[in-house]
Amino acid sequence: MTTPPFPPDTILISPRSMAHQLGCWHNDEAKVRSGEHPGWGWVHGATAEQWKGVGEGRPLPAAHGDTSLSATVRCTTCPGEWTPGS
Ligand SMILES: [Zn+2]
Repeated sequence: MTTPPFPPDTILISPRSMAHQLGCWHNDEAKVRSGEHPGWGWVHGATAEQWKGVGEGRPLPAAHGDTSLSATVRCTTCPGEWTPGS
């Protein structure tokens, strides 16, 4: 089963509550989408404030996937700035 790609303004939330941007080498987006890698959540339409907030102690709850997750830490190998689509 194939699912459409995530839009660029998506924050992925790992099973360990870490926020990742798309394209991070930690993620296998296709497998997250298909459910092959279970236990992930994500947020579409994410904003710079949300991305920044995770790093400042404001958890970001998952809107899709595993919605019991909240991102509490930001991946340190993802770009520090939120620049979706650039
Ligand atoms: Zn990452």
